[in-house]
Amino acid sequence: MATYIFGHTTPDSDSIIGAIALSYLRNRLGYESIPSRQGEINPESRFILERFGLEEPILKSSYSGEDVYLIDFMERSQAPADIDEANIIGIVDHHKLGDLTTSAPLDMWVRAVGCSNTVVKQMFDIFNIDIPEGLAGAMACAILSDTVIFKSPTSTKEDTKACRELAEIAGIEDVRALGFEMFRVKSDISGTPKRELVLRDFKDFNMAGSKVAIGQLEVVDLSLFDNMRDELFEVMEQIRVEGGRDTLILMLTDIIQEGTEILVVGDSLDRVREAFGIDLRDGREWLKGVMSRKKQIIPPLEKSFNDV
Ligand code: MG
Ligand code: MG
Ligand code: MG
Repeated sequence: MATYIFGHTTPDSDSIIGAIALSYLRNRLGYESIPSRQGEINPESRFILERFGLEEPILKSSYSGEDVYLIDFMERSQAPADIDEANIIGIVDHHKLGDLTTSAPLDMWVRAVGCSNTVVKQMFDIFNIDIPEGLAGAMACAILSDTVIFKSPTSTKEDTKACRELAEIAGIEDVRALGFEMFRVKSDISGTPKRELVLRDFKDFNMAGSKVAIGQLEVVDLSLFDNMRDELFEVMEQIRVEGGRDTLILMLTDIIQEGTEILVVGDSLDRVREAFGIDLRDGREWLKGVMSRKKQIIPPLEKSFNDV
């Protein structure tokens, strides 16, 4: 029976490219594997797939009775609805320990690095399997995306090393230039419906029983959002209420200035104020030096929600 390999809901480039890369590796090792995805392909991932001539993973949202291998997530809130009826045979990830569990032993490749594709690159090395040029280029892009061209506090030496080696295989001379080209593509939000923007890189979390959603948009210039915030707040509130969420935060991250403006709606603004020691006047605040959801937003927020 083939194994489906897929990443989190609202897939990003790490989830899409990681599913392709890990499937390729496992197929080479003799385990029949099929890359899949839980949602639409975002413009950045589309750019990578086209640039390196890769086929997109199949869209599949139900996995009852299937063998599955997860990449880039291990949270129930980011999994298919019928995940409990699937057989999780392995996980490759770089997030905090999630709340999924299994009834049988599994492979866990979890590292505190900046990108799941860094872990997959290390797996290729361990199993001594060559990476095709196009796949290597795409994996390098996934690392550039997740580490925000190595600027994110999540980025490690291992990510830089893996990315450099992948770029060499792919024949990419200036990997940073490729990174900035990719982020410029990602920054082109003109004409995109606001709802789509809020949901583009969107994750739900369970914090002490409250449903908290955090979306993130990474752009090369924050002024792109001028005159757009009122409409963003409106759409954020709609999405929050529809999904029965307590709080919804949208991170507007400026990768050049290296900071994030957060927009917040919901019932627990005081929890957010406490988490970051901020006023949050008009529901927004600039957080200097903040670029990472997993490392700089989730931990203080979770602590604040857990405080009695
Ligand atoms: Mg991801
Ligand atoms: Mg990732
Ligand atoms: Mg990210």
